Amino acid sequence: MELSTDLSKINGVGPKFIKQFEKLKIKTVRDLLWYFPFRYDDFSKIVPIGELVINQPATVQGYVNKISVRWSWQKRISIIEVLIVDDSGGIKAVWFNQPYVAKILKVGTYANFAGKVVQYKNEVHLSNPTYEITSSRSSAGTMSGPKHTAGIIPIYPETRGVTSKGIRFILKPILKEIDHIEDFVPLEILKKYNLPELNIAIKKIHFPLSHAEAENARKRFSFEELFLLQLNNLKIKSRLAQEKGFSLNIDSDYLRKLTEKLPFALTASQKQSLQEIISDIQRPRPMNRLLQGDVGSGKTVIAALAAIMALKNDKQAAFLAPTEVLAQQHFQTVTKLFPEFDHDVCLLTAASAKKKELLRDIENGAFKIIIGTHAVIQKGVKFKELALAVVDEQHRFGVEQRAALLRGHKIIPHFLSMSATPIPRTLMMTVFGDLDISLITELPANRKPITTKVVAPENRPKAYGFIEEQIKKGRQAFVICPRIEPGQKEEGKFITEAQKRALELKSVKEEFEKLSTKIFPHFKIAMLHGKMKAVEKGKIMKDFKDKKYHLLVSTSVIEVGVDVPNATIMMIEGAERFGLAQLYQFRGRVGRGEHQSFCLLFTDSSSITVQRRLDSLITAKNGFELAEKDLQFRGPGQFLGGSQTGLPDIAMSALQNAELVKSARSAAEEIFSNDPDLKNYPLLSSRFKKFEKEIHLE
Ligand code: ADP
Ligand code: MG
Repeated sequence: MELSTDLSKINGVGPKFIKQFEKLKIKTVRDLLWYFPFRYDDFSKIVPIGELVINQPATVQGYVNKISVRWSWQKRISIIEVLIVDDSGGIKAVWFNQPYVAKILKVGTYANFAGKVVQYKNEVHLSNPTYEITSSRSSAGTMSGPKHTAGIIPIYPETRGVTSKGIRFILKPILKEIDHIEDFVPLEILKKYNLPELNIAIKKIHFPLSHAEAENARKRFSFEELFLLQLNNLKIKSRLAQEKGFSLNIDSDYLRKLTEKLPFALTASQKQSLQEIISDIQRPRPMNRLLQGDVGSGKTVIAALAAIMALKNDKQAAFLAPTEVLAQQHFQTVTKLFPEFDHDVCLLTAASAKKKELLRDIENGAFKIIIGTHAVIQKGVKFKELALAVVDEQHRFGVEQRAALLRGHKIIPHFLSMSATPIPRTLMMTVFGDLDISLITELPANRKPITTKVVAPENRPKAYGFIEEQIKKGRQAFVICPRIEPGQKEEGKFITEAQKRALELKSVKEEFEKLSTKIFPHFKIAMLHGKMKAVEKGKIMKDFKDKKYHLLVSTSVIEVGVDVPNATIMMIEGAERFGLAQLYQFRGRVGRGEHQSFCLLFTDSSSITVQRRLDSLITAKNGFELAEKDLQFRGPGQFLGGSQTGLPDIAMSALQNAELVKSARSAAEEIFSNDPDLKNYPLLSSRFKKFEKEIHLE
């Protein structure tokens, strides 16, 4: 048997399984071995029936004493009840809709039963237990022992027809028979970082004897991915270091004068970041830098200054924003701050008029600074000489879009990506590990901290009263809702608790209706959501900025970057539905002017986790601290658009493990610095090639 062996060739794997496995994209032995459990149930001890504890999973071992099969007309399911007895007592095991159980278990059968002990009304029973017929008492978890009911039992992501039990049944003999699998991770690395060798890890991830063993095996597979990712980062870095780039001439006197003309003084870290960028773009190799700074920390002006440097060299700069609204805002900011370059700057979005002329003037170099949305990376857009590409809110774009922006130029442009989403350190070192990083760590001095409160449902009227006061003082307010349309329950359709809660979520349309007719009929209120046309959104945003509305009810479309200094209230409905990073972004919409600002978080959830999460928004000192917390609460997914990493789940969850991330990085550095082409590691080299291909396809 080999890894590439088709499962259909394996004894005991019937056509029924093959068909179901196909749905899970499992075809070969390898596919199945790498289909990892997502959790383990601990049935490691066989418990005397007399000592069972309610609500705990447990394994009992005993004789079948009685079997009854009933049909519930009401629920339309069959119910099988089996009385199991051992020396200490008896307990009923109950199965719903599994009629075949009665065909296998007979009175007198001696078996293990593993399941949860539940109490229903006055009776305690084992609910839907997994069972395994054993001829005698047996020890837990050994390779030859029971595979379903004793020890640490692997639970797999299931689909209709493929149960964890089925997977375990097929896996166990395969694991025993499979030949030695070659390990691509160098042995010296495994030793140094105390990780199990592949052949051990693959057995232990499926059939561990303890949680510690399972954990260790999992760690190894996570490490693999992180290690490859780090190798990839190192390779990109070293390759870029050898590329030719635009070495731009910087007239520092001119740059100084330009900054002195600004209506404000740059903060120390703005200056520092600018310096780092300037020194990069002077070098004859492409910059690859992330400019990271809180919302409102003033990233745009730094990028604009760099763009003007490109312009002064008679080259072009492109500025990519994730939404129409933001692109327009950047356009306004740049033209307002630097009016002398009015004629050199253009805005290119899907909504742009006279597109033909626009594209022509970009191509012939008449426009030097091109600000826009995805429209900028469409096929028809050609630059004369693009020296700098800036991407705002990088996490909103996929790798592919960034590649599209940088591709097809004679010389690779300098690349600056900007993000206000504070990224946890582990992510910075991995997913963004190929970038150099500049941090803006402070807000401009004129900013006041924003007062943040979690508002209990009963205090809603009070909160409305407060908003009323603020608006009467001349301020404006944002109201954020988690969805656009009100939820609708389909007649007669069964829904889960979670779905029910989702249906109760506040929608933009309902809130808009309620606020404009009942709560604030005397104020002007606008509505903004993602289903509206770009032009429409842009107009509403502009009108709000021009104080034509008092309130703006919106979905998360206003999440990033929108600047309305007169708005002092950010009210968020269904706050528990958003990640901390996202809430943090919302809050950053206010507190941008001279007035004290407020962030009001509304939630109907009384869950302690929710409360704790929301509280950390009040207590955290800065975005980075929040990011670390968010990573623990919600995992790395929310920091990365799904398609951004191409990493498997196992590596995604490993991003929460700072220690492992560090090990993977040093391991990659050790290997790469001695042998960048991996000549001495043929297995690693071929695995890495495959990894590169996968990650670049994303
Ligand atoms: P972000 O980093 O969130 O993109 P922006 O670049 O939109 O922030 O800046 C927010 C606002 O602060 C803009 O109106 C900008 O002109 C202004 N600003 C930028 N730098 C400073 C500064 N050093 N002092 C005062 N205001 C500044
Ligand atoms: Mg911004």
